[in-house]
Amino acid sequence: MENIEQDLSHQELLDLYTRTQRDLNVLYEVSNAMRTTLELNHILYIILTGVTSHMGLGFNRAVLFLVNSTNRYLEPKMAIGPESGEQAHQIWESMSDHEQKLEDLIETEKVYLNIQQSAILRSLRDLIIPLGGESEKSLLYQAFQSGQSIHITEAEIQNYQNDLLLKYFRTNELVIMPLKAKDKINGLIVADNLFTKKPITQEDLRMFLMLANQAGLAIENSQLYEMAMHRSQTDSLTKLWNHGFFHNRLLHEIKLHKDSQSPLTLLLIDIDNFKSLNDQLGHQTGDSVLKEMASILKDSCREIDCVCRYGGEEFTVILPNTNKEQGYLTSERIRRKIEMHEFQDVASKKKEPVTVSIGLATFAEDAQSNDELIHASDKAMYKAKFGGKNQTYVSD
Ligand code: GH3
Ligand code: MG
Ligand code: MG
Repeated sequence: MENIEQDLSHQELLDLYTRTQRDLNVLYEVSNAMRTTLELNHILYIILTGVTSHMGLGFNRAVLFLVNSTNRYLEPKMAIGPESGEQAHQIWESMSDHEQKLEDLIETEKVYLNIQQSAILRSLRDLIIPLGGESEKSLLYQAFQSGQSIHITEAEIQNYQNDLLLKYFRTNELVIMPLKAKDKINGLIVADNLFTKKPITQEDLRMFLMLANQAGLAIENSQLYEMAMHRSQTDSLTKLWNHGFFHNRLLHEIKLHKDSQSPLTLLLIDIDNFKSLNDQLGHQTGDSVLKEMASILKDSCREIDCVCRYGGEEFTVILPNTNKEQGYLTSERIRRKIEMHEFQDVASKKKEPVTVSIGLATFAEDAQSNDELIHASDKAMYKAKFGGKNQTYVSD
């Protein structure tokens, strides 16, 4: 430090001080912002804002890849940056006009939801890198494997024109920065200065590394939180949404449907004679019937429908924007599918098929609140039982 002070002029020292203060400020603001949320997409947005914004590291473009450890591949999750030099120019002009602060950019309400649909991200959609096999030679895989950043300078870039990354992400110079959480890599950021052509310096890399270390930890925390959250809302046997989640979701849907005045239908599904199935074939077979039943229900419903395990051998299905007639058709389709299905371990041992009784009620026709809707579908389900089981009964 003494030598540096002796060798640098007063002005150079002042510049160094200003730069160091700016760097610390960037790290401080980004890490502070990351602490305000546990939502993964919000975290990713804060990281990329820190990497690309004028007041942050100032890269022109940045793409964040996450490791999918279940299926073992790297996939692009979020990208920030202009699509053309012209757009870049407009963005930077408007930024300097408004003198926005990093904090303001980060706090911009839910911008990240649109960022996820960005054109750069769409152009990279197919850039999925399996962790192993052929892709081991690719730059992205090498950065992941070594845990070290890779900087490809303008002079070297032509040697990599056949690399998978450069086929999708055409640029003049780039850096790939791994994101580390403890000793594992959970993502990578690729950044460049395609529009300004500003060379990437050692100082840029040093700052990027510090930001990446914080980012990796924030991503891990958020993923752990989301996993715990998901676990607390799902049923461990069937992997369907559980009772608690069902009640919250129904409340939410009813509020939406009250505002839009569109109908919503609830199905309450109860397996017929399940106790005797358990008694005859054992609880393990009973459990496997519940699991298969869950798959049939999920496969029979739309993406927007919500299939839940209400309790024991009872399931609920929330059908948004569905009137009574449409709900009845869905219910009967499900009921027949179950009746025809050959459940593993059951078909060979038991003569009669596994069937269900379904009670159906529609908001706001049959009920004015979530409690009333559940009660109405429950009543209908009991009528279906008394009517002989294996049928749908509609609330009246
Ligand atoms: P009904 O046709 O009137 O619906 O008769 P049922 O036998 O299906 O109804 P009942 O309420 O008498 O019995 C429900 C049975 O579901 C009793 C319980 O042991 C069984 N059950 C509840 N949860 C589970 C589970 O997680 N696994 C298994 N194997 N059985 C379960
Ligand atoms: Mg029951
Ligand atoms: Mg039953």
